[in-house]
Amino acid sequence: MSRLVLATRNAHKVTELRAILAAAGLTIGLVGADAFPEVPDVKETGVTFAENALLKAHALARATGLPAVADDSGLCVDVLGGAPGIFSARWAGRHGDDVANLALLLAQLADVPARHRGAHFACAAALALPDGTERVTEGRLRGTLGYEPAGTGGFGYDPVLTPEGETRTCAELSPAEKNAISHRGLAFRALAPLVGELVNGSR
Ligand code: IMP
Repeated sequence: MSRLVLATRNAHKVTELRAILAAAGLTIGLVGADAFPEVPDVKETGVTFAENALLKAHALARATGLPAVADDSGLCVDVLGGAPGIFSARWAGRHGDDVANLALLLAQLADVPARHRGAHFACAAALALPDGTERVTEGRLRGTLGYEPAGTGGFGYDPVLTPEGETRTCAELSPAEKNAISHRGLAFRALAPLVGELVNGSR
């Protein structure tokens, strides 16, 4: 069976991509990067989601000798010109402080009226082969930002984004409902056939 490594130490992301690859009819052994503890994390020095996803995928493919997939994602707010964007995880200064990031964003947008509160989650998913071959796909989840967090599910900015056509925030959707429309789901589902072609097909 072909093998593929995903640049994450998050078991949930591995399970999600495994299900997407299976739904695309691919028989591929997917492992998370924690199967390779000696491989260091990569600095995200790119200035776009696609650049960062490619940096991570190429580094992992080089280090493991296996085809590698990586993703990079964030929240892009219209009235902030697309920020926090690639800085979403560290918008308030400390990487991964979801509560502080969300509080800062809501404070910045406190006076912005509802009609100008459009935003989207964006995700780039990259596939890199050890020989340098690369592919990138992207997905978006468009919606509107609220004034207060609502809901207890999800993570990050989920409690403030209500997807288009929904009355609930992403944090009020079930994981299955969110996966079906999410930026990450869309990007990974678009990548699956390319994985089939480049990983399953030729080797
Ligand atoms: P990463 O690409 O998984 O590291 O995500 C970067 C940051 O973007 C996260 O820390 C969150 O702040 C934000 N983000 C990305 N995807 C989502 C999502 O689906 N819901 C909420 N926040 C997200």
